[in-house]
Amino acid sequence: MVRFIDTHNHVGLAELDESLEVMGRKASSVGVVAGVITTGCLEDFERAREVAHRLGWGYCVGLHPMYLHEQSDEDVQKLKKFVYEHMDDSHLVGIGEIGLDFYVSQPDKALQERIFKKELELAAETHLPVSVHSRRALYRVMAMMADYPQVRGALHAFVGSEQEALQCVRRGYFLGFGGSMTYEGSKRVRRALASLGSQALLLETDAPDMAPSFAENGRSTPVDLPRYLQEMSRIRGEDSEALGRVIYENSFLAFPRLRNVVELTKNFVATA
Ligand SMILES: [Zn+2]
Repeated sequence: MVRFIDTHNHVGLAELDESLEVMGRKASSVGVVAGVITTGCLEDFERAREVAHRLGWGYCVGLHPMYLHEQSDEDVQKLKKFVYEHMDDSHLVGIGEIGLDFYVSQPDKALQERIFKKELELAAETHLPVSVHSRRALYRVMAMMADYPQVRGALHAFVGSEQEALQCVRRGYFLGFGGSMTYEGSKRVRRALASLGSQALLLETDAPDMAPSFAENGRSTPVDLPRYLQEMSRIRGEDSEALGRVIYENSFLAFPRLRNVVELTKNFVATA
């Protein structure tokens, strides 16, 4: 059976249609062995940590560009403190969700860039990968990340062009694809997805957001990942099992600490 990692989601932080345990059981029954829960604000850090431990998943902490406010400079200090206090927690696998969002109305670009820069600095200092959000801001995201060539990670929910995708891959970033590729109208995303080598690809749901075209309730869930792989392999004209295996391994290259988490969970299940 193909195994899956949901490399970007907000499971446990927003309302789900079912309990965490039920979702976790359903997800593992279709081959989802782990996920990376990403956070957007300080208030979510502890909860993400707790849920990640309960499910045997990984989590990232970061300040999302859409939720910044006047206290965000202080919040970065608290983010740093949290990261350093939890560096020994193997479930902490990265910094995210961070980035730039120039699509919101009247974005405070200076604030967003200041906070993003500090978060990239933190990622560089701690050697943790990043999970990056970018809307209408990819050129700035790429320019800012170029100042931190040692920082690796994933551009989540990638919707750029073929040329932009290639540029990201050349820099060694992974590109996360999810719900948007399931829409017939997502021509640009599908073209970019079809043009890339499989070594750059990740699967993600952004659950419960970014509902796929087949969702009946307007939400996504990690349980959908096998259908995402089918869709991806169809778009790319590639065998789904082989592609699934490559993407599974890519997930650990993008978030190296996740491998330990998955090994731990397996041992736990084996000895339970
Ligand atoms: Zn997200």
